[in-house]
Amino acid sequence: MKTFAVYNFGCRVNAAETNQFSQKLINEGYTPMAKEGQERLDTIFINTCSVTKKANIESVGLIRRLHKKYPDTKIIVSGCANLKEIKDLSNITVLSNSEKEIKLQDLNCEYTRKIADKFSHTNRFLLKIQSGCTAFCTYCTVPYKRPYLWSLPIETAINTVISANNDGYKEVIITGVNLNQYTPGFSNLLKALLEKTNIQLISFGSIPINCIDINLIKLLKKYPKRLQKFLHIPLQSGSDKILKLMHRNYIKKVILEKFSLLKNLESGLSFGTDIIVGFPGETDADFQQTYNLCQQIGFNKIHVFKYSPRPGTLARKLFLESEKISKDTVKQRSKKLRLLNVQTTLPFRQKPEKKS
Ligand code: SF4
Repeated sequence: MKTFAVYNFGCRVNAAETNQFSQKLINEGYTPMAKEGQERLDTIFINTCSVTKKANIESVGLIRRLHKKYPDTKIIVSGCANLKEIKDLSNITVLSNSEKEIKLQDLNCEYTRKIADKFSHTNRFLLKIQSGCTAFCTYCTVPYKRPYLWSLPIETAINTVISANNDGYKEVIITGVNLNQYTPGFSNLLKALLEKTNIQLISFGSIPINCIDINLIKLLKKYPKRLQKFLHIPLQSGSDKILKLMHRNYIKKVILEKFSLLKNLESGLSFGTDIIVGFPGETDADFQQTYNLCQQIGFNKIHVFKYSPRPGTLARKLFLESEKISKDTVKQRSKKLRLLNVQTTLPFRQKPEKKS
């Protein structure tokens, strides 16, 4: 019996690809094994991440540890981490993101419950509909790591969801590197999946603000039970000056208009977001605008990230050239936003404690 184990770091696109890689190995006659404690494994697949310095260190650390533990196992590594330092180790095959995607192409994003990963336990199927990004937000390394744009055709998405549903999956999580760059159109895909499949629930990893259009609003209104009620919409900042420095292609006015449309639905939607604090050039006034915007929208979840310069990005250049924001200031700003998070989340968290 040929055996394998997979490891995944980072975003849901990576997780979807790791699931597909498992399926690929199963189709080739391999059997999935629990990760740790195996005497012997024939193949290990590790999908890495470099969204932060820590993620990169952890990814490379795991490769080294597994290489030491399983010196005779074929180890295939891919993903966004900087893999230069391990590429010459014996038994290691490095696949670029595009090589990995070509290898998985014939699966049409399908996989089955045989892969036995943590998502299959919860009846949630990760549907990767898009890959690649050419938006070049100035703080982000993804466009350098995944420069090739790809979109899953709507017909293929329908067939994949029908198969997943027949296989027992009850929920589909739509995922992509940059859903703004999904060429058939995000709301067109949702409409087709809602009309042409019986999937009980469609949810989303995160939705770019520019994907919120009038068609999506109509669908949220028409299918309140089949579309997830929690929307994670990463904004990164509420200051137009900082949004421009980040190369985010929206302004505060647009954010407020879209949230007003969502709130007018009165269908019990709740919201989450990602905010970067301490971006180069962020003044107290800029931060205050972000704080006010978050307060006005009333997020149930705010993921606060302290800006960290990533190699090769424009923001890093800006970071090196601009006046430094002290660590204390960044800490204070994060704390303030996290407290706001707690305040807006409290009634939400208290709900389950109510006894009927
Ligand atoms: S949209 Fe911006 S943040 Fe998202 S992957 Fe592309 S460059 Fe990175």
